[in-house]
Amino acid sequence: MHYSDYKTILSPQNGMNLYRGCSHGCIYCDSRSFCYQINHDFEDIEIKRNAPMILENQLRRKRKPCMVGTGAMCDPYIHIEEELQMTRQCIALIERYGFGLAIQTKSSRILRDLDLLKAINEQTKCVVQITLTTFDESLCRKVEPNVSTTLERFHVLEVMRNHGIPTVVWLSPILPFVNDTEENLRGILDYCIQAKVRGILCFGFGMTLREGNREYFYAQIDRFFPGIKQKYIQAFGNSYVCNSPNHHHLMAVFKEICEQHGILWKPDDVFAYLHGFESKDQQLSLF
Ligand code: SF4
Repeated sequence: MHYSDYKTILSPQNGMNLYRGCSHGCIYCDSRSFCYQINHDFEDIEIKRNAPMILENQLRRKRKPCMVGTGAMCDPYIHIEEELQMTRQCIALIERYGFGLAIQTKSSRILRDLDLLKAINEQTKCVVQITLTTFDESLCRKVEPNVSTTLERFHVLEVMRNHGIPTVVWLSPILPFVNDTEENLRGILDYCIQAKVRGILCFGFGMTLREGNREYFYAQIDRFFPGIKQKYIQAFGNSYVCNSPNHHHLMAVFKEICEQHGILWKPDDVFAYLHGFESKDQQLSLF
């Protein structure tokens, strides 16, 4: 790992990434793409050393509170977070200054910070977003090797439900010829129903590949799924979007089950929910 100092931490859309690089090893990771210009080994994590200080400055300067997002480019609960607690320090600031939080992870390490998540959710809104791609646990270990399994993530969703913290699942990406089956989809949706998730983000059943993540992905599927790479090359060539041949059928099943259970599934609706800041004080004053 290595350290860098930054001038700003919040993007214009109020998203932030506290680390650059990731140790979770997902074979499909888009953050490895060269377009993001990570100029060090992906596993050699860059730590934005002054992130808490500049976050505090930026939060202080905001005219009104809003939702702050984290986890889009790098998981906030990678292994070194246990020791460094950058994420914890930053969400403590979000709580102290009365902002909302939309945090995305694949790691059950998030449970360490349940006290802060509850505190934020009591005064504004905290949404925990968990990615689920692979219902089968042994397959999950191959696809997402260094992070909590799908069953462990489901338990995180249950804990959040039990504490009244709303959740959103990212059902993405789904890997053609690997986990693009109805059985996989129904297994994940069943977890979502049990956990009473508010919404599921699904942009179609497939994945994206581009320079940087394609090379890594192909090397990993050659290790774990011999013969599949040829199918990708034949079906997708150098395409960025690689949709499953089962895309239409899976999409129909997905929509039907979400509608049946009142789960938000249109991406615009889910994003509107994630970005919508709520003040509990305002809500109470309405009554
Ligand atoms: S958790 Fe996210 S950033 Fe980390 S390897 Fe997996 S996909 Fe990439």
